[in-house]
Amino acid sequence: MSTPEMNIEASGRPRPVSNGMKRPRAVIFDLDNTLARSFEAPALEMSQGLENILRRIPVAVMSAASFERIEKHLLPGFSVSADKNRLYLFPVNGAGCYTWENGAWRPQYHFEFTSEERARILAALKGSVEETGVGAESPKYGKQVVDYDGYIAFTALGLDAPREEKIAWDPDGSKRRTLRESLQKKIPDFDVYIGGTTSIDIMCKGVNKSYGVMWLAKHLGVEPSDMLFVGDALYPGGNDVVVIPTGVQTIQVAGPHETETVIEEILKACSG
Ligand SMILES: [Mg+2]
Repeated sequence: MSTPEMNIEASGRPRPVSNGMKRPRAVIFDLDNTLARSFEAPALEMSQGLENILRRIPVAVMSAASFERIEKHLLPGFSVSADKNRLYLFPVNGAGCYTWENGAWRPQYHFEFTSEERARILAALKGSVEETGVGAESPKYGKQVVDYDGYIAFTALGLDAPREEKIAWDPDGSKRRTLRESLQKKIPDFDVYIGGTTSIDIMCKGVNKSYGVMWLAKHLGVEPSDMLFVGDALYPGGNDVVVIPTGVQTIQVAGPHETETVIEEILKACSG
């Protein structure tokens, strides 16, 4: 739940304020378009900012990315002295959680699709692409469908598409909304979200970032409203919006450049 202190505007264009953020008990960051550009590693300053927060409070990174991608993109930015015992990694939109224990990342929980579910989702996706034309005619750069355990992502231009082309492909989100609506009707027993700039995420029903937020609150023994979630997709249909009903405080950012400012505000709140 947003609070006046956070200065969050209903328009979804919140601005962090310099005086008044309450110290959160934990902070959760989305990865793509929040800590880093989609499918890229965070900048060094971002990693250092996260590490500074980790010295004070638990930090979670909750992403559509696989554990392997989070491990590859996020973790190398931390120094050897980073307090990884306070770091929680939630890959696949909260379908799993990994924590650092005795020198290794270990799963705390993990959901996956059955083979029947996987086949039905892929058939529906094929049908919706044909029906809407979204993603059917564009040039392809690598794999279009990525099948993780517990999560299937459709990336219209392919996983390896150049960033400029991805940004230019669907600037107002209308293509992704069209595809999402078509697909959600075909598989109402799954959840379908807009993911990154060209992607749609399909998840087990009810297993999403809100599940991760609730799990973390319970694990830390705090109320969701004492935690802060920072993400770029808190708008309707976005893959972060599901966290709002948990009561977690939220800040929407337009990209990593705004997240850097939010991190400064968090550090101020933690040291004040
Ligand atoms: Mg994002």
